Amino acid sequence: MTTSRPLGLYIHIPFCERKCNYCDFVSFAGCDEAARDAYIDALCREIDERAGEFRESHRVDTIFIGGGTPSLLEPAQIDHIISRIRESFDCEEPGNMEISMEANPGSFGAEKLSGYIEAGVNRLSIGVQSLDDDVLKRLGRIHSADTARHALRAARGSGINYSTDIMLGVPDMSSKCFEDTLEELIEMQVPHISFYSLQLEMGTPFYRDFKDGKLSLPSHASTRAMYRRAVEMLKAAGYHHYEISNAAKPGFECRHNLKYWTMQDYLGLGMAAHSFVGGRRSFSTSNFEEYLACGADSIEFEESEIRDLKTDFVFTELRLMDGFDEGDYEMIFGSSYEEDFGRVSRELESDGLLERTERGWRLSPDGVDENYLLMERLINE
Ligand code: SF4
Repeated sequence: MTTSRPLGLYIHIPFCERKCNYCDFVSFAGCDEAARDAYIDALCREIDERAGEFRESHRVDTIFIGGGTPSLLEPAQIDHIISRIRESFDCEEPGNMEISMEANPGSFGAEKLSGYIEAGVNRLSIGVQSLDDDVLKRLGRIHSADTARHALRAARGSGINYSTDIMLGVPDMSSKCFEDTLEELIEMQVPHISFYSLQLEMGTPFYRDFKDGKLSLPSHASTRAMYRRAVEMLKAAGYHHYEISNAAKPGFECRHNLKYWTMQDYLGLGMAAHSFVGGRRSFSTSNFEEYLACGADSIEFEESEIRDLKTDFVFTELRLMDGFDEGDYEMIFGSSYEEDFGRVSRELESDGLLERTERGWRLSPDGVDENYLLMERLINE
């Protein structure tokens, strides 16, 4: 009988064909094959180096290959990474593992996809963003709406489990345009749909345009109305709205991402990857050259106060629509939720932002709209 704890692996692939106008993720456009090969070599060295710490204590049951644009890599390169993980870590049997990979509709087709599936990928997260060409151009995406439709059909035709990301709150995007995209995805029976509000990130072209007065963002009220409409449409179509920005057909929830929202152990590998293992956070360098030279030696550990971990618990678990269990809180921290957050939780309840459940607390519909404000009040308690 195994006593290993489950472990999720996040693998960062920092390459993109072109940077999108809103994106501040750590990824680089225009890297050549030599740079990609050097990165994969460094990543495999890190996999070997780090696996030893976990082999006795953990068993890998989910892998998420994200970025960046992992689908810029060839299937043989993805196969090389997954095989190296299997050789180095203690892993679940392939049938029990979720291996997700992010894919840009503009960088894969049916043939490449079958190579990824052969390499072991069994879940594809497709960055569709919109099925409207004007919106895609505005965002600076490399794909058109038809390319996205083609990618979705390829995913469905291959039999792989798949998910799509779409955006709301994009400048000049009407509610109708957003709803048309969502409706088309629902009609296609996409198993999992993530719907995120556009965030203005410093250093991006959108941020500069906004500062220069060349870009206006939709109001909070109109973005929230789009969000509520999305939830309504997804629920009516039988999706399980399980996290603030995620809905899935029952049984198709993302196992890896659920680890982030339930404070389970995950290990990030690759540059700019974050980890949370045994209540300890760490992160590796965002500098490409430094990562190639130092790999695992570039990792910095963060010493979190117990209070920070408690607020992290509340912050992340409240993202789940069912909220959290006070009993889990007490089991993890050995202290009473009532003593730590009881007063502010009741205040937020009377303001209509939090709701009591049989076992703990969850966000109310207004609390979902104002979740950042609410989290701030909890953190400052
Ligand atoms: S493809 Fe994704 S990671 Fe790459 S620039 Fe666009 S949003 Fe960022």
